[in-house]
Amino acid sequence: MREAQPWPLLQGRIFLAGVTLLFMRKIACLAIASSLVFASCALAQEQPQPQPQPVPMPPPIPQPLDKPYVGPVKLDVNITNLTDRVEHVHEVIPVVPGAKQMILLYPQWLPGDHEPDGPIKMLGGIITTVDGQRVQWVRDRVHMYAFHIPLTPGAKTVGVDFDYLSPIKPSAGRIEMDQNLADLEWNEVLMYPAGYFSRDIPFDVTLHLPDGWKYATALETASDHGSTVKFQQTPLNTLVDSPLYAGRYYARFDLSPTKTDMVHLNIFADKPEDLKMTPEELQLHKNLTLQEDKLYGSHHYKHYDFLLLLSNKVGGVGLEHHQSSEDGLGEDYLTDWKDGVLERDLLAHESTHSWNGKFRRPNDLWTPNFNVPMRDNLLWVYEGMTQYWGNVLTARAGMRTPEQTRDIFARVAAGFEASKGRDWRPLVDTTNQPIISQRTPVSWVSWQRPEDYYTEGELIWLSVDTKIRQLTDDKKSLDDFCKKFLGVYNGSMITDQYDFQDIVNDLNAVAPYDWAKFLRTRIYDLHPQVPEGGITRGGYKLVYNDTPIEWEQTEFAKYGFADFSTSLGLSVGAPHGGGAAMIGNVWWGSPAFKAGLVPDTQLVSVNGEAYTAKGLREAILAAEKDHKPIEIQYRRGKDYKTVSIPYYGGLRIPHLERVDGKTDYLDQILAPSKSPLPKF
Ligand SMILES: [Zn+2]
Repeated sequence: MREAQPWPLLQGRIFLAGVTLLFMRKIACLAIASSLVFASCALAQEQPQPQPQPVPMPPPIPQPLDKPYVGPVKLDVNITNLTDRVEHVHEVIPVVPGAKQMILLYPQWLPGDHEPDGPIKMLGGIITTVDGQRVQWVRDRVHMYAFHIPLTPGAKTVGVDFDYLSPIKPSAGRIEMDQNLADLEWNEVLMYPAGYFSRDIPFDVTLHLPDGWKYATALETASDHGSTVKFQQTPLNTLVDSPLYAGRYYARFDLSPTKTDMVHLNIFADKPEDLKMTPEELQLHKNLTLQEDKLYGSHHYKHYDFLLLLSNKVGGVGLEHHQSSEDGLGEDYLTDWKDGVLERDLLAHESTHSWNGKFRRPNDLWTPNFNVPMRDNLLWVYEGMTQYWGNVLTARAGMRTPEQTRDIFARVAAGFEASKGRDWRPLVDTTNQPIISQRTPVSWVSWQRPEDYYTEGELIWLSVDTKIRQLTDDKKSLDDFCKKFLGVYNGSMITDQYDFQDIVNDLNAVAPYDWAKFLRTRIYDLHPQVPEGGITRGGYKLVYNDTPIEWEQTEFAKYGFADFSTSLGLSVGAPHGGGAAMIGNVWWGSPAFKAGLVPDTQLVSVNGEAYTAKGLREAILAAEKDHKPIEIQYRRGKDYKTVSIPYYGGLRIPHLERVDGKTDYLDQILAPSKSPLPKF
């Protein structure tokens, strides 16, 4: 069963195995006791066995062409089976005259996911017909997302039925629907003909909802008869980009900064009391859309719908779309506003993508349909700059204080100082991670730095912002770059592609500088120094001390999380209501790492007392004074072990400290924009 191998060290073993095989063959030949058979057996040994050869690959799936499809696809989706959480699909697809087969594709590469993760494993009951007669489909032997349907001469339509088996337990995937809520991603409930750009395939969609449910989507409704909704004809690319949220408990708020600017917050929740918004909370969300208009000075939507899911039962996502965003947060987002600081940039992040990512997109990240591979190398712009503006806009809207935002920047920068992965992996390579691992966890985050393009990208854009301000004596900023870079073709919803040079050109138009070198050294080269230029140019420096950040500590405790990444070099998750405290991450090269602690280990006790976050903090402070090692007992499987960590450096909580005499650019960046509100 094993091929001959060229490695010298294995040759002896292979030779011995060959002798054994030869010996056994001879025994078999002798047992037959026939001279004729013996002769043929000997002959067989003289003829060398042929080496295996590859067979030709099957014909490729046709490349998509930019030409109109022959007619609209009729798509009927039924999400009324809440008990089994099954979404039933029926499609009728017109046949191109004279075609001998139809190849149907299930979407694999999804915009915003940046990876080939279309959930094809969730499908069941796939049945195909041609003009109403059942015909058996055949899955392509290479492309598992492609289905071949043979056609009879003169065939007019292909029918497809299938069930999308939405996960009923978290281990099978994100929970997408329950008795009160549904998150309907159209790419999960359709197939489409191969060979065409997605913008060239029109869809007529009908949706069947449970009785009494409401819905929200960026799609335009054609007719609404309670539980049956028809949408206006839409091209496939817009359909997939316009998910629909539906549920029993729903509230809608107008966030429009102007009468001509239609922005709405659509909230779906597990229970009606979670929908209630105070006037102050509503004002903060209105501030956000106002600050976005002032920053970007342009629009690339007819109307914009935030789809906000507040649930502890249905799993939330943060996913951008051109005219909407999916914003999944916990059920207490509104009811416990005070202690929700960390998650509060989600809406600003996802809506910023309407400009940065959906409208302007890296040229090789745009694909003609959903089965052509994407290339992710400019995600440090698509996601990194969005991460920056998500945090800045959240501060400008008043949803976080400037101090809280500085605390977050400090935590990000400190995380990179503790991360060894920057010694070997250039930032640009981290943009490949969604394709490499499809967002599954890795064991050593600080050594592999899987998706640093978000947060390191954020620090790089802070660095660009402060550099522009410095170069122009504070007359220009990254706001000006955004108006130029993201504001082209104001009002257009057609994706506008760019490459690295386009970014450099627009930066140069705002403030002449060697931006190509500035960016290349930080993104394409190994750059072990932490990108703190934005912080120091911004009038601050990163410092560490034992002073706790109260709001951060409260929120970490709310999620049962404790962070010791900058001191011992580990983080701990401890579930509420009991359960074992588990070490989540261990920082490569840290004191915890050197002591032999590894991720996914139960943290049992600290200095002889059962683990609590407070107890470990006190132990670190005590060791700073008395220079006695910290004793940590952990459990791995059935084994208990105690290690002694000689760490005396204190809690090392990161803060940004003001540097007197330097301009406080950070304060200016985080203050509400003074720009006039543009007219649309
Ligand atoms: Zn994003």
